[in-house]
Amino acid sequence: MSESDGSSLSPAEKKIFEAIENNDSVVLKALLTEKPQNVNILDENKMTPLQHAAYKGNKEIVQTLLDQGANVNTCEHQHNYTALHFAALSGNIDVCLLLLVAGAKSTVTNTVGRTPSQMAAFVGHHNCVATINNFVSKDEIEFYTCVNDTQTKTILPPFLVESVHKFVMQVNVHPVRIVMNINHFTSLQDYLPQLKNLLELMSEREMKRGLENNEVMSFKFYYLSYIIGEVIQIRQKQSNRKDEEDKPDITAIFAKKLLSPGKDENMEFMDDFLKYCIKEFPYKETTLFRQMVATLSSEEPPSALFVISTVINGQRGFLDNIPRCYTCGEEQPAKKCSKCKAVQYCDRDCQRLHWPWHKKSCARLEQKNTVASKNKKPGSDGIDIKELRQYLEDN
Ligand SMILES: [Zn+2]
Ligand SMILES: [Zn+2]
Repeated sequence: MSESDGSSLSPAEKKIFEAIENNDSVVLKALLTEKPQNVNILDENKMTPLQHAAYKGNKEIVQTLLDQGANVNTCEHQHNYTALHFAALSGNIDVCLLLLVAGAKSTVTNTVGRTPSQMAAFVGHHNCVATINNFVSKDEIEFYTCVNDTQTKTILPPFLVESVHKFVMQVNVHPVRIVMNINHFTSLQDYLPQLKNLLELMSEREMKRGLENNEVMSFKFYYLSYIIGEVIQIRQKQSNRKDEEDKPDITAIFAKKLLSPGKDENMEFMDDFLKYCIKEFPYKETTLFRQMVATLSSEEPPSALFVISTVINGQRGFLDNIPRCYTCGEEQPAKKCSKCKAVQYCDRDCQRLHWPWHKKSCARLEQKNTVASKNKKPGSDGIDIKELRQYLEDN
């Protein structure tokens, strides 16, 4: 590998950076085919071609460089930026993903102590925060399918790797959605105790990496294991019951419990449940844990779901009041309750899960909506023109 100091870039080397600057992947490919060793050169700022391409957010060029063997974790830049730091600044989630799949480390900090996802949060690219923070390499799961130095028996049957991998990468952290996802991966349903155990081990592993500890990941794995624990308990209770129903709908029971009114009448029971979950996080010395507790004990605390979602996904979406499904928190739900039109859902499934509670308020909400639309004058968009004129005259 030739690692030029940049001051003496040859014309051929300069052309590589020019091709990236011009988004010209054809020229770049030709140049690298001719001199493959040039893929990891450094320019005058000690930046690699891959770092330039990541900063430009050009997926095709990043892919070309990775195909040619670009080193994804080079960190010679004077402020310790890696390609993933630059990708986070570009705001392009596809480029972030390409780098992560290629093995980019997400825990490296730059000279001001920020990781790539923290840089993304700093410049407001919240989708990049979510992409980086939820990324799990498949190797991490495969690790548990075999016997090695740290484990004397296999923790996970190999055929579950795919579904577990998808399950742990989910971005929506609403507990009802998580339980719905367990049903989505049918193969997981028969292995819930093993899955819970696996997630606990994964959470612990993230806290035993020394400088590369990942508190966010550790919390997320713990969080998923906690919810699975709740499902296991519901199952056990149901199997102890000796009544007619042979296959109880665990998701419905879980959703009904979580969406019921909580201690604080403005909140669902889910809020108490999640606060308790945070409280039980075993790594109380972490910055992340202290941050969450501080936020929840502030004067006007947000919901526990908001706190959890923010630490895992950044402030994604919450700032702009995106409509969410009343059952599972999914963004931009497609359906509304046809009667009251006041609550929204992803689909019939979500509506069904919310119905035990919504049926109590649907009629009232419908009435409220009808009154509101009766008072509305055509074209006035809800504002009473007469009242407005009066107000302007009086003031
Ligand atoms: Zn939903
Ligand atoms: Zn309704």
